Parts: sequence; structure tokens; C-alpha cells
Amino acid sequence: MKGFIWFAASAFALAATQSAAADMGVFNPARFSEHVKTLGSDAYEGRGVNTPAEQKTIDYIVGQFKAAGLQPGGDLVDGKRKWTQDVPLLQSDHASTPKLTLNLGNGQTLNLTQGEEIAVRAPTNGQTTVNLASVPLLFVGYGVNAPERNWDDFKGQDVKGKLLVVLVNDPDFEGGEGDFGGKAMTYYGRWTYKYEEAARRGAAGVLVVHETKPASYGWNTVKNSNTNTMFDIVRDNAAAEHTAFESWIQRPLAEQIFAASGLNFDQAKAQARTRAFQPIPLKAKLSARIQANSRTITSRNVAGLLPGKTHPDETLIYTAHWDHLGIGKPDANGDNIYNGALDNATGIAQLIEQARAFAKGPRPDRSVLFLAVTAEEKGLLGSEYYATHPLYPVGKTVGVLNTDGGSIYGPSKNFTISGTAKLALLDMLIAEGKKQGRYYSPDPHPEYGSFYRSDHFSFAKVGVPAISYNDGNDMVDGGVARGEALQAAYNEKQYHQPDDEWSPTWNFTGMAEDTNLLHKLGERLANSREWPNWSQDSEFRATRDQTASERPAGSDGERG
Ligand SMILES: [Zn+2]
Repeated sequence: MKGFIWFAASAFALAATQSAAADMGVFNPARFSEHVKTLGSDAYEGRGVNTPAEQKTIDYIVGQFKAAGLQPGGDLVDGKRKWTQDVPLLQSDHASTPKLTLNLGNGQTLNLTQGEEIAVRAPTNGQTTVNLASVPLLFVGYGVNAPERNWDDFKGQDVKGKLLVVLVNDPDFEGGEGDFGGKAMTYYGRWTYKYEEAARRGAAGVLVVHETKPASYGWNTVKNSNTNTMFDIVRDNAAAEHTAFESWIQRPLAEQIFAASGLNFDQAKAQARTRAFQPIPLKAKLSARIQANSRTITSRNVAGLLPGKTHPDETLIYTAHWDHLGIGKPDANGDNIYNGALDNATGIAQLIEQARAFAKGPRPDRSVLFLAVTAEEKGLLGSEYYATHPLYPVGKTVGVLNTDGGSIYGPSKNFTISGTAKLALLDMLIAEGKKQGRYYSPDPHPEYGSFYRSDHFSFAKVGVPAISYNDGNDMVDGGVARGEALQAAYNEKQYHQPDDEWSPTWNFTGMAEDTNLLHKLGERLANSREWPNWSQDSEFRATRDQTASERPAGSDGERG
């Protein structure tokens, strides 16, 4: 009922402001709604990788690409392109519920419940049986080794055979200023970094302490993302990148572990914020027995191509991930389908409609590739695979425009990109936005570490200028207060939960405007001789410059 009143009120406000609103161009909100409703329906079972829903999802996207008038742009087989690119992945599932016993070292022993106090990932280091017998725990603060910032949480301690207890985010998050970008999350703050560093050092495993603020999401998200099927791209030496035991624990359990060692968790955390921090041995020892089924499977990226008129060897790429979490643990209402309507049926809807608009319009000079990538939710794997096994050379890829999520609450006056990257692509986006009467706001939540959390990051790592576009928080109807409240409510109640479902109250007008903005930017890029680059001080600049000789001489653009 409440939802209905809200919808009626906002629809009314919209009608009143529509004349002043930004331009939707050729885009029709109803079409976006239809894609999201379909792909986010229970029939698509949450679009899990390597489930029956994968084929169904791929069929839908290929069908839409065909109808739009694209050509197959995927793997080249016998001189012909397929609609898809094969992505070989290692898949690992728990064969049974992990048995986890924690001896606190004060005479007390706890049996831990998977998904409750702890969430243990199925191993992706190549092992199918993991037996840990009374392995000691070692608190290593934020688990960061950053020589360029003169920061080392390990201080030369041998962590081999130990379980590392680490904090999420980076050392200056709590204080708000320091050597790690203040509130903004650096890559050192990502849990993926913590796992990688532990593997590099030969630790037995990792327990990341979950806290909602520095993680930017609640325990439900951790539980849902970590207790189901795990994937990785097939690696030459998986054990060098993953330990056998990758897990998260809830903060109250961490407090209990520290208290049993005569320590206070908050005090230990405060020490971890300083350069002088030394690893703290804990009295607790963990025993674990994990049985996993693991195998190599093949998932697929979907690739639709619009060949360029005069420079078909130069490619602009629009990306969005098609996968979500699939079927998982039921929520309190017994719903076990993680529909992923916003995350990321909306991104695919934008990709499809973008493809239709380009195919219907005048043929651009450069080729445009529409790439729906797999396994984003499993660690940006489909995009990592493409970026390291590109269908079209990365040196001649003009840029990547990614959408992960989209506007569902009505138009916004502003827009943003994930993270604080500096690149000419962003300058061009801002200029196009201005023409639409919209303004750019820097990522309002750099502490979420969004730059490392979607597929544009895979392309940035190989030097391709890449952004993830996000709708703004300054709503035409309700301003920033309403925009922030809606986002906070979504993060708490829907993000990576079964309730991320299409709703008749969702308003796709803003999504049509956003897609039009990205269309104008794409048209400019696809019809120019420009090669927008990263800013001089960007960590991705040097990688991009390594491929400069592949591009026409003297054409690499500077950031304006
Ligand atoms: Zn997503």
C-alpha cells in the first residue's frame, strides 16, 4: 500500500517536470522495463553461471542482439564468428556442510555454523579436501603490504601454516584521512586483495572480520556470496593465488576470539590503524573439514558486433554482466531465487537497447561491440577472461562503457562513475552530460571501493580506458535526500538478496535518459579519430602507453 502511494505521487511529480527533464532520445522506458521484468523473473532462476538458466539467459540476449541487427562477434570458428566466447572456469561447490570447530584457548570450544558466525568459501586453490587440525590464528590488522606507502602489517612475521584474521577496508578508513585515500577504498581494502596477499605468503587461510560500514554491505550479502558455488578462471598455479581456506566471520565472533586471548577487539583495531602495528598471535585454534566437488566448466560471454564503416579494426565496447547469484539459501520468507533484477538485468537491458539504437542509426566509422559478460558476481571473471583473451585487440579498443545497475526510481539531475579514476573518457562524458542539462558528481561513496567491483576494472588492468556509468543521487523528484535514502534501503534490503526483484513501481525514465547519454558519448567515440587516454598520474597509464604503437601515430589523447 505504501509503495502504491509513493508510486502515484512520483508519477504525478514526473509529469509535471518532464518538460524540463533530460533527453531520452530514441529510448523508450517501457522496453527497459520489459527486459528487466523478463530477465529478473523467477523463470530465469537468478541467472546462475553454469545452471540451466545460463542457456536461457544467453538465448534471450542473442535473440535480442539478432533482432537488433547485430552480427555475431564471438569466437572465430572455421572462419565464422559465433555469438558467444567460451570462458573456461574452475567451479567448486561444498559437497557437504563444512565442519568447523574453534578452540578459543580458554577452555571453551565452539562448533561454528556455516552461514551464521562464519562463511567459508568452497576452495578454489585446486584442493577438494581441506583438513585443518588446530591451526593457530594470527591477527594481521588490515593485512596490507604497501611498500610505496611505507606500510607493512606483516613486519616480516612468518605466516606460513597460520590462519590470518584481517580487517576489511584499508587502514585509514576509520580515521577518514591518511595514506590510503582517506574514506576512499584502495585496492588494499578489497577482500580479494587480502586473499591474494595471504596466498602469496603461504598462509593456511584467511578470516575476514565482517563489519557493515567498512565492508559497505551487511552480513546477508557476505553469507549469500560466499556459501554458494565458487568460480575462478582456470589458472596455471591456483595455489599461488588462493589459500585453501577463504572465509569471513561476524564481528561478535571476532570479539569473542580476542576476549578469550585477554584482548579487546576495538583496541587491537585501533593499533591496526598505525604504521607501528605488529601482528598479534591469538590463542584460538581452528579445526576444519571441507569436502568440495570441483571441476572445469565452460561458461560464455555473449558478443554482438556492429562492424565499423571506415575503421572496422578499431573497437568501442559496451559491457554489462548477465549473471547473478542463481538459487541460494532461502530468506526469511522462504524465497531462494536471487533474481538480480537491478543487479544486473538493468545493465543487460541497457546493453540491448544501446545495441538496437546503434544498429538502427547511421553506421559508425569504428566497430561497436556489445559484450554481455559472465561470472561478474564470481570475481569479474568473464571480463577478466575477455581482457586477457581479447576477441579484438585491446590496443585498438577505444574504450569500455560498462553498466552495472541502473536508474529505477526516476530521473536524476546528476550522474557519476564508479571510483575516482581520471581519464579523458570521463571528461567527454561530463561534456555530453552538460549538453543534456545534467551535471557530474564524483562517486559519492568512494569508500565502497566500487572501482574494483565491476567489469570495467578488468579492462583498466590491461590499460583500456574504461568506466562504469552510474545514475545520480540528486533526484529530479526529491533531490539527494530521497536518492540517498533509496540507495541505502536497496543496499540493506535487496542488494545480493532474493528481494532484488522487478517491481511495477520501478520508473525507467531515468534509465532511458542515462542510456541516451551513453549513446551520445558512444557516437562521438565511434565516429572520431580520438584515442582518449588515462591521466598522466593514473596507475593504468603506463600499461595503455605500451600499446601506443598499435594506434595511428600521434593520436593518443591527453586528458583535457
Ligand atoms: Zn553487478
